[in-house]
Amino acid sequence: MKRVYAFGEGNAKMKDLLGGKGANLAEMTSLGFPVPQGFTITTQACLEYLEEARGLKDELKDEITQAVKKLEAISEKEFNHSENLLLVSVRSGAKISMPGMMDTILNLGLNDENVLKLAQITNNERFAYDCYRRLLQMYGNVVYEIDMIKFDRILNKVKEDNHLHYDYELTADHLKDIVKDYQAVYQKELNHPFPQDVYQQIYAAVEAVFKSWNNQRAIVYRRLNNIPDDLGTAVNIQEMVFGNSGETSGTGVLFTRNPANGKHELYGEYLTNAQGEDVVAGIRTPVSINRLRDQFPEIYQEILELTNKLEKHYSDMQDIEFTIEDKKLYILQTRNGKRTAQAAVKIAVDFVNEGILSPDKALLTINSESLHTLLHPAFDPNALGQAELVSKLGLPASPGAATGQIVFDAITAKEWADAGKSVILVRHETSPEDIVGMNSANGIVTSQGGMTSHAAVVARGMGKCCVAGCSELDINEDKKTLAYPGGLLNEGDIISVDGTTGCLYIGEIPTVAGGANENLDQVLDWSRQFAKLAIRMNAETANDIENGLRFGAVGIGLVRTEHMFFQEDRLIAIRKFLLAKNPSDRKICLDTIRDFQIEDFSHIFELMQEKPVVVRLLDAPLHEFLPHGQNEIKQVASQLQIDPSELSDRVQSMKEVNPMMGHRGCRMGMTYPELYLMQAEAVIRSAMKVAKNGVAVKPEIMIPLVSSQAELIHLKDKIKVHLKKVLDEANVNMEFTVGVMVETPRACLIADQLAKDAEFFSFGTNDLTQLTFGYSRDDAGKFLNQYLDQGILKDDPFQTIDTFAVKELVEIAVERGRSIKENLKIGVCGELGGDPRSITHFHQIGLSYVSCSPYRVPIAQLAAAQSAIINA
Ligand code: ADP
Ligand code: MG
Ligand code: MG
Repeated sequence: MKRVYAFGEGNAKMKDLLGGKGANLAEMTSLGFPVPQGFTITTQACLEYLEEARGLKDELKDEITQAVKKLEAISEKEFNHSENLLLVSVRSGAKISMPGMMDTILNLGLNDENVLKLAQITNNERFAYDCYRRLLQMYGNVVYEIDMIKFDRILNKVKEDNHLHYDYELTADHLKDIVKDYQAVYQKELNHPFPQDVYQQIYAAVEAVFKSWNNQRAIVYRRLNNIPDDLGTAVNIQEMVFGNSGETSGTGVLFTRNPANGKHELYGEYLTNAQGEDVVAGIRTPVSINRLRDQFPEIYQEILELTNKLEKHYSDMQDIEFTIEDKKLYILQTRNGKRTAQAAVKIAVDFVNEGILSPDKALLTINSESLHTLLHPAFDPNALGQAELVSKLGLPASPGAATGQIVFDAITAKEWADAGKSVILVRHETSPEDIVGMNSANGIVTSQGGMTSHAAVVARGMGKCCVAGCSELDINEDKKTLAYPGGLLNEGDIISVDGTTGCLYIGEIPTVAGGANENLDQVLDWSRQFAKLAIRMNAETANDIENGLRFGAVGIGLVRTEHMFFQEDRLIAIRKFLLAKNPSDRKICLDTIRDFQIEDFSHIFELMQEKPVVVRLLDAPLHEFLPHGQNEIKQVASQLQIDPSELSDRVQSMKEVNPMMGHRGCRMGMTYPELYLMQAEAVIRSAMKVAKNGVAVKPEIMIPLVSSQAELIHLKDKIKVHLKKVLDEANVNMEFTVGVMVETPRACLIADQLAKDAEFFSFGTNDLTQLTFGYSRDDAGKFLNQYLDQGILKDDPFQTIDTFAVKELVEIAVERGRSIKENLKIGVCGELGGDPRSITHFHQIGLSYVSCSPYRVPIAQLAAAQSAIINA
């Protein structure tokens, strides 16, 4: 097994083995880009190391030594050399980029002697000691897990004592003192000095990077981003170049397009006389890349050309890290850039217009899940005019509108959010330890750092509203206060955060629906051309239906009739029905309910016109309609004009031990056939009303929770006979279908029997998952999280389809159903219908459509197109 590849040996396709960073460094090397040379230790070597848990094996050490020798030859420098001194960085890099999650160490190769050589070679003592103190800190933290703060305290004290603001103001003498004190930290914490042997430094650094694959923040990040745990990280060892060697040097990051809005412009930040993480750490606020155009026009021009070339080469927007050493440009990293949904749809459309990508390929550059941020509300502009400003000096780091109570640390953010509060996380700057809190927060605010700071990058990745670098804020994280020019805020106070403008406001501001977006419309247009699955919505209110139609839903996959029963006047009617003592009383109640339902369904058909509408007959467990507790019973008894104790007895007698598996779904239809007939009749009467205007209305009546052929035949025949009578009486000819909601394992297995009578299937994936696992969805919270933490389950099966059993049941049902009716229309109306990963499976299985909540329609549409494009 080959464990080490020189940059010259790899290419961009080898991400599995070399990690994203390593593969792209190799690719850029072969393209002739100015990349400091080096080599990559494979992810396989990492996995081998983690598995064996016995330290670096000798074979690997040998390979590393060989690779170092080659690097020494290429770079014409050597470790410990007194004129051509080689220093390297040791950089982590997994297949999928996990920014800031794992560790990187710079300036390896320095020790007490080599620092003197470096000072002499460069004639720059300050620079040499600056590199050394950085190495001591990073190495101590990464390899020996010494808390950063132990080093920071020393550095900050020297700055304070000398009244200095910035690191770059430290003199060589200050830095020498700092180095001495840092070395004392090693003695104190570890009882041994910083290792002087360069190879020993490298081996330990490689081990530490390997191990960092399993550090807590990396694990959390992988969980949040659905990244598998078994990929491992590669390690890149690369010749150092120095952005901290003076005023003609610097380091920066840039995007080839604006990652917030997609505008075609070079977008980035850099710092002169700085190294590595200085830019993203938010200690100094970096300056815009545009300043480089004035300061070093040739370098700016070179960057422009190189980045254009890179963007075309990768056919995607690039996120690039660069360093300038004495006016010479080096590219240290490139990868496809993370972007907001707004930017993603613009860039996709622009790439097609610029001839860089075809529409199908362009669609694949957009993260379907991220689209939700485009569809969600923004602050009402009228209300904004009157709102009291906290500050308008923040950077619009990640668009959106968020309101919540401010908290000053990630743990509180999570606790409060778990308790159901909306929170805004306010920090000087965020670090990878804050990830969980950031994920819980509604919005994120920082007082330091730029558009590419940790907070900004992570928030954009999460699709979370963020205002960064709001320098007017004086945050005291210990006292939990936020002072701003107009006053002081305490933990728990409410603010509103506008990530689109960078403004912060006092209190809660009302929001308005997400605005029109031409680029999104274009993306959805293309998506409809490529998708094989049609996208319907689950909806019953006018508002939801209008939204779904706006987003391009081609039908309704699920009207939940019970949602219409929960209004006060209707609830009384249904209660009367359920509690009535004889059929004639029941009939009176039903007449009232029928009128309500006709009203509701008519609105739906009017809005939907010729688009198909699936109406599910009553599904909810009985008990949901019955009064609970003595007070409610008293109230209902008086509404129904019966004796409370009698009502109490009746309610008691209808009580079920396990209502979710009790008297519900078509079982209600079996025991109260008049209820289902009334509903079916209401559907047809509404359809007739709308059809009068010449509209070919398409009602589809769905029977829920079927688990036997006899149930279906029984109910369907009754419905057909009844509706025929209704239509004949009205002398109307109307087509309608009766189908089955497939949501029990038994229904899947007898799908061939069901298909004989069913005119369509629709999978109810919530119940199907419940019944397949035997998990009650409403109670699963208690153990599911633990299962996910312990890896008992890889994913929550209520959020993404269980690709073993539940998927197989769906496949069986499709196969058996279509063995009877080749063209049987089969959809999904459970929550999984809006989940991109599940949609991939539904596409592969060959379903006709998925149905999801209106706001997820665009997400499902794009996901369906992507599945079709990938599997084409
Ligand atoms: P991350 O994955 O967290 O971005 P990197 O490995 O990219 O970590 O390293 C972070 C930064 O360190 C880089 O952006 C670059 O500025 C600096 N760096 C890494 N290797 C070198 C090097 N060989 N020479 C100069 N700077 C380097
Ligand atoms: Mg990097
Ligand atoms: Mg169900």
